[in-house]
Amino acid sequence: MHWARTTNPISKELREHHWACVIASRALELRSGGGEDLGRLQFSDVSAVVDAFRTARGRRGEVHSSATQIKRAAQFFNLLDFGRREGVLDGLSPRFVRHPDHHTIKKVDENDEEIGKVIPEAVVRQLDQHVHLLGKDFPYGELPPEAVNALLRTAYVVLRDTGRRPAEVAGLDLDCLEFDNGEYQLIWHNMKGRRRRRRLPVHQQTVDAIKDWQEIRAGLDLPDNSAEHLFPAITNRYQHLDTGYLSRFIRSWADSIPVLDSEELGRDGTPLPFDRTKIFPYAFRHTFCQRYADAGVPLHVLQALMDHRSANTTAAYYQVSKKMKREAVDTLRVLAVDRQGNSAPMGSATAYEVRSVAVPWGNCVEPSNVKAGGNACPIRFQCSGCGSYRPDPSHLPAIEDQVRSLKANLELARAMGAADFTIKGMEGEIADYLNVIKKMKAKMESMPDEERHEVEEASKILRRLRAGSAASSPVALPMPVVRAAEETGA
Ligand code: SF4
Repeated sequence: MHWARTTNPISKELREHHWACVIASRALELRSGGGEDLGRLQFSDVSAVVDAFRTARGRRGEVHSSATQIKRAAQFFNLLDFGRREGVLDGLSPRFVRHPDHHTIKKVDENDEEIGKVIPEAVVRQLDQHVHLLGKDFPYGELPPEAVNALLRTAYVVLRDTGRRPAEVAGLDLDCLEFDNGEYQLIWHNMKGRRRRRRLPVHQQTVDAIKDWQEIRAGLDLPDNSAEHLFPAITNRYQHLDTGYLSRFIRSWADSIPVLDSEELGRDGTPLPFDRTKIFPYAFRHTFCQRYADAGVPLHVLQALMDHRSANTTAAYYQVSKKMKREAVDTLRVLAVDRQGNSAPMGSATAYEVRSVAVPWGNCVEPSNVKAGGNACPIRFQCSGCGSYRPDPSHLPAIEDQVRSLKANLELARAMGAADFTIKGMEGEIADYLNVIKKMKAKMESMPDEERHEVEEASKILRRLRAGSAASSPVALPMPVVRAAEETGA
């Protein structure tokens, strides 16, 4: 409260900081004493809070990107710093601070996070049938409800048909259409890439929607500051429609649609409900890219349409086809190794997919764990010491990450004076992973350039697929050790 009163943040900032506090409070509530005694908070409480930011979801249950996780954690800890400097947190323990080696949140490759955000075309068709509900009971400044609906209908059509980012749609110029050589182009500004006045060919349907809105807009009393923008702001404080508003409009619209079916059928053969949290402005950009990818548009054309500098970024926007996955599996299955790094190829692509399951640092062929989708490891994911471990080159970055994290834990265990058998166990685990890395890398280095490139590309595809499935279900993490006394409650 003191921070808000003193710094007078804009409402978006206030909302975000508040949400960061909610996440941290919920994590502390689960700690012994419920985090109530500020003077007793310590290192492990900070760890619990940071873990909560790592797994936090938005208010509507959406998975946070790593960038958002990092931002929310920073907002919470900056708030504490502010409170300390202002002398309003004198009772807070000095041990309740972030340690740079232990309390950072890793930034995940943006491309790996972009998978799985496509809205299926069948769902888009259902959305199209409910555009009359857009902005219903959702006031926008002084605009009459029909004008709010017209504004939002146009914004939706532009999001859907052009695949521009929400901020680019919200910030379109009033004269954003150009007629050239018998066709219309949308003039837009690539804010992220800082490239202005880009051109994108648009269909007549999109042009009609924009022109209809321009006509309605001309008869409205709007804030002066919005004079040059297609979608006006509520007040003169902003120049155009705010992306936060756009997001809330789209989400509340999705919630207001009575029935929204997914493409998946339930046991009784009727469609299952579509997960409405997947409908948000940015998802239309992915949907746009997928639409063209499905139509067989080559990657370099897609890259130009998306205005990406790198084709890798474009490729991450659409889902990998079954054919691409099959080819990637075929390339990598023969390169699988066992826990000692010795060649242990899978007999077929089917065997790779059916008899093994992805666990955090490789594939696992232990039957009961495979059956449980990788969530029932009998030995707490100590893969490097397990006869069922079958990593392949697509797992190399994950294994290297694991080695880094094990080394940090080992340092900590030594500093804490942990027992010899604990230290030896950790050293052995690290040594075995390093051996697997060494042998896999040696094998790849011995390949001709073309073959190695093929393996690297196949690895990227499988990693993207795994990242996609991890986004919709929890990552399999080592299970906690439950001592018998805790199990029985004794
Ligand atoms: S330790 Fe790893 S490879 Fe072994 S059963 Fe568990 S998950 Fe599978």
